[in-house]
Amino acid sequence: MRKLVVAIDGPAGAGKSTVAQIVAQRLSYTYIDTGAMYRAVAWKALQLSKLSCDEIAKIAEDIDIKLNYVNGKTFISVDECDVTEAIRTREVTQLVAEVAQIAAVRKHMLTLQRQMAEAGGVVMDGRDIATHVLPNADVKVFLTASIEERALRRWREMTNKGFTVDLEQLKAEIECRDKKDCERDLAPLIQAEDATLVDTTKLSIEGAVDTILELCSKRRENV
Ligand code: C5P
Repeated sequence: MRKLVVAIDGPAGAGKSTVAQIVAQRLSYTYIDTGAMYRAVAWKALQLSKLSCDEIAKIAEDIDIKLNYVNGKTFISVDECDVTEAIRTREVTQLVAEVAQIAAVRKHMLTLQRQMAEAGGVVMDGRDIATHVLPNADVKVFLTASIEERALRRWREMTNKGFTVDLEQLKAEIECRDKKDCERDLAPLIQAEDATLVDTTKLSIEGAVDTILELCSKRRENV
């Protein structure tokens, strides 16, 4: 059976990584979290206190990012150092959308992402996968949810981890990041014309997974 390439895009907190990882596991495919790659560059820039565009571009050029997808969980390393948790801090989250606007950074990430998807059998999630990284993907999904629902999910996730966070502030931060991602000149977040919209505001994780698996089955019947 031919292995498909599945592209999942959408705004922050829509559940992309959760859903994409389960889809990948069910299909025995590889999951590629492209947001983690931009986060890795932002994390390294913060570590080195190198925050000019040129310095960040150089970091993106030299960085050794590895995504290791094991038993449904992705481990991320930068220059052989595990950063799986470190790239999820608020500091990194607040910087990453700026880093992702730098043309040279996007160029390097695009090359890496295409190499990773070359063999097929991948589920890749991000902001520009269906529109720029893998425009010939077999299945394209735009996964979204209302801003209230996305903020609430992030709030629950952080509260469960023991952090004290303000829901309204979280909502404002997500909206700010979405705005940067949607309004940037290069590869902005936008639903591809041929992508299927999956709104998870009232849909469970399983419901979203089933919808995507169904799209994959239908696609396989036609190839
Ligand atoms: O998916 P995640 O929220 O971890 O992504 C972090 C950031 O990385 C996004 O807000 C966006 O600025 C950037 N990104 C991107 N293109 C992608 C994936 C992520 O610009 N394909």
